[in-house]
Amino acid sequence: MFPNKTSTDPTPLQDPVIPVGQRKTMETLMADDCRWPIGDPQVSGFHFCGSRKVDGHPYCDLHLRRAFQPSKPRAVAYPNLVS
Ligand SMILES: [Zn+2]
Repeated sequence: MFPNKTSTDPTPLQDPVIPVGQRKTMETLMADDCRWPIGDPQVSGFHFCGSRKVDGHPYCDLHLRRAFQPSKPRAVAYPNLVS
């Protein structure tokens, strides 16, 4: 179930590119669709993920993990600002 640990992060989570045909808007989003917003609501092209959502959650599996992914503060965010 768990692959051997490597020095690199095995599963970097990136925003998937949603196929145009799968994209949902406010009008086409269904109850079972993942409502993860993609893009800027103020800009045309904004859409929702539209994948099958996980029961009991508003997002699909991938975006559920995104939503609960702890934001890891970088160890040294602004090294140049110190001193
Ligand atoms: Zn999704």
